[in-house]
Amino acid sequence: MAPFTPEAYPEQEVQQIDVLFQQAGLRRNLRGMAAAGVTSRMRLERSSQQELIPAAPLPRIAPNDVQWLAVPAWDKMNWLWHGFSTRRGGRSRFYCDDDAQGELNLGFTPEDDRETVAQNRRLFAEAVSGDPSTPLVDVHQIHSNLVLLARAADASRQKPRSADGLMTDEPGLLVGVRTADCIPILVADRKRRAVAAFHAGWRGTVQRIVESGIGRMRLQFGSRPEDLVAAIGPGIGPCCYAVGEEVLSSFESQFAYARELFREVYDSDPVRIKYPMLFMTQRAPGHSEIGPSLHLNLVEANRRQLLAAGLKPRAIHLVGGCTSCQRELFFSHRGSEGHAGRMMSVIGIRPETP
Ligand SMILES: [Zn+2]
Repeated sequence: MAPFTPEAYPEQEVQQIDVLFQQAGLRRNLRGMAAAGVTSRMRLERSSQQELIPAAPLPRIAPNDVQWLAVPAWDKMNWLWHGFSTRRGGRSRFYCDDDAQGELNLGFTPEDDRETVAQNRRLFAEAVSGDPSTPLVDVHQIHSNLVLLARAADASRQKPRSADGLMTDEPGLLVGVRTADCIPILVADRKRRAVAAFHAGWRGTVQRIVESGIGRMRLQFGSRPEDLVAAIGPGIGPCCYAVGEEVLSSFESQFAYARELFREVYDSDPVRIKYPMLFMTQRAPGHSEIGPSLHLNLVEANRRQLLAAGLKPRAIHLVGGCTSCQRELFFSHRGSEGHAGRMMSVIGIRPETP
């Protein structure tokens, strides 16, 4: 039997099956209570995507056709540059169909052409800053809590330094992190005019990349938490981020609130929910649903770290979107079984600010 996936059964097809069943004199949910049990447990999974992760906003479209996301509330800080790339725009041909438009892969992946990626980076820098030659500094990411000070000169390094965060108070450059499921976090100090970008996968999150990064901003720039604003960009959502028990153990060893970041999710196939009897022969009674699997909310985990670092809830913006659910908009490492480009989240200080 072919695998059942939610996408394979859109609502209208389920309705067609309803009609078929009525014509055959069959009723759904014959097991009554058992079916209700499956459905009520499903609500956990079904609500998680909409309630915990807001939908991604419509991308902004730059004159060079790059599509990128921004925090509208940050537009009034006219000294600041910031942006989260999507896969749309650019010149890469490797991760799309042959007849599709080029894409905005910003990582020097083994598959993609180096000059094409460099060209994409210039296009993205242009979309955010208005100038394709704006220096763009990134790091060799190692899933650590290491945060480094960046200068414009770092953009011309042959090999980027190893770290998972960059900060600067020098105007005229963009600092950035690359992701394709991991969570990008941008932080700006409104008073001291300093900025930082952090890359947080589960390992970096357990090592408190965001909390330690804000600690570094305090040391380096004298940043006060009440002057900071933060934006958590698109990454893999709690709807899709299934993890192993060892991840839960790692979080429990570090955070008192660890359990609040995880939930158990059951299979969400609508045909199975409506017609559990169809599948009764496949599994023992009481085991007809698939799962549960353990899902981690990495966005919330990093929001908690921003709060722990002293930021007010209203100073933290969730950009929204799940990279794995919205593969037409984002690159997703998991969603495409490792065959993915990289997006970039960048922040910088506009030169000659008023
Ligand atoms: Zn998702």
